[in-house]
Amino acid sequence: ISALVDQAISARLMPPPAPAVRRYAQGGAYDYLIVGAGFAGSVLAERLAADSGKRVLVCDRRPHVGGNAYDHHDAAGILVHKYGPHIFHTNSDDIVAYLSRFTAWRPYQHRVLASVGERLMPMPINRTTLNALYQLNLRTDAETEEFLRSRAEPQEMIRSARDVVINQVGSELYRTFFEGYTRKQWGVDPSELDKSVTARVPTRSNADDRYFLDQFQAMPLHGYTAMFENMLDHDNIELALGVDYRDLRADGLAKRIIYTGPIDEYFDHRFGALPYRSLRFQHETLAQRRFQPVAVVNYPDPEIPYTRITEYKHLTGQTHRQTSITYEFPQDAGDPYYPIPRPENAALYKQYEALSREHPNVTFVGRLGTYRYYNMDQVVGQALATYRRMGADLAQTQEV
Ligand code: FAD
Ligand code: UDP
Repeated sequence: ISALVDQAISARLMPPPAPAVRRYAQGGAYDYLIVGAGFAGSVLAERLAADSGKRVLVCDRRPHVGGNAYDHHDAAGILVHKYGPHIFHTNSDDIVAYLSRFTAWRPYQHRVLASVGERLMPMPINRTTLNALYQLNLRTDAETEEFLRSRAEPQEMIRSARDVVINQVGSELYRTFFEGYTRKQWGVDPSELDKSVTARVPTRSNADDRYFLDQFQAMPLHGYTAMFENMLDHDNIELALGVDYRDLRADGLAKRIIYTGPIDEYFDHRFGALPYRSLRFQHETLAQRRFQPVAVVNYPDPEIPYTRITEYKHLTGQTHRQTSITYEFPQDAGDPYYPIPRPENAALYKQYEALSREHPNVTFVGRLGTYRYYNMDQVVGQALATYRRMGADLAQTQEV
């Protein structure tokens, strides 16, 4: 019978059995239990296993690796990102060199258009945006700077996500491109958010219409999931997918834990829940080759309930008769996608961070583990730095 079951599974007639906790060796059989198979967890698993010879168990409550960067082929065979568009960009040669061990790259420069009225115009705001919006003919950086100066409303103190924009471009452009989008995305007014949020998309006086200016911008050639699979493919790494840490907690599987889930959840929300912003993704496949001129179109209009639409074929270069797109609808409930950068949340996080110092056998890493609005490259950098800092520790575990 078991041979028949195996056959049925390999023929994809039956789903594989849910992994049972009992499958994992008990009683400290692993040096590390890593919670989360996203960038933070996977980089540390790879380093510990491949560089230090540690035995690692990686669990993730989702049934796949890659965390929020997970991609897969949808029913039409189009490579899509399950949790919204992920574009890799960085200025760090070290991070590129590290990831390049696990993937080749497809050069890709990300471009975003904002939908304003009936028209699409480049975002971040640049010279082309201003010329289109105001029917101007600004030709040089100097002319554009002069125009922006005439619109800007200098702020004495730049604290909030609103101040940053008003200071640079004034209220009108702020309302057109930032106010509605930010209120939808975060559920609060930009004046309630840290300046770092809108400082991610600074206005330019030139006509460079790329979304990012980083030296390295590319997509993993065969997708993110394939890259993660290469990273985690090591004899010392065992994967427990579809398994929540809470179900392993009592088992004493490892001496040390690396936790990349929400830090407040680890401590059972002892000081109260840290706020996160979530999204609902609406994925669609359309019977047409192209839907929109660029990978991402943003919708700052407050009357439109979604923030952006992504068309994946622009990111991947895939050719296909159909096309797949995703709408993003921000919401409070659901998976914790975004830590919300504002002072009271940072203060609450500090309480958890202090508490974590009383738990030296647990290391918190990643966007949720350290409650930071990090891009993928920053998480990789943080994980590599964490590994380097573990140096002395690693020698100790070896002795045990
Ligand atoms: P995650 O990817 O969130 O991984 C954490 C994992 O831990 C998850 O898989 C989760 O299931 C698991 N987990 C949590 N708790 C438990 C538990 N109790 N038991 C078991 N498993 C658990 N960055 C860019 O650089 N470029 C982009 O274009 C970009 N676009 C983005 C778009 C969206 C919509 C979002 C939400 C993020 C985007 N990012 C982008 C950020 C990027 O997703 C993150 O920087 C990165 O994925 C964080 O990796 P991580 O490992 O810290 O966390
Ligand atoms: N933003 C905006 N209008 C836009 C694009 C961005 O108001 O057209 C603001 C918004 O607050 C957003 C933030 O800038 O959350 C950062 O944008 P980014 O594209 O970096 O967000 P992410 O890709 O992380 O969701």
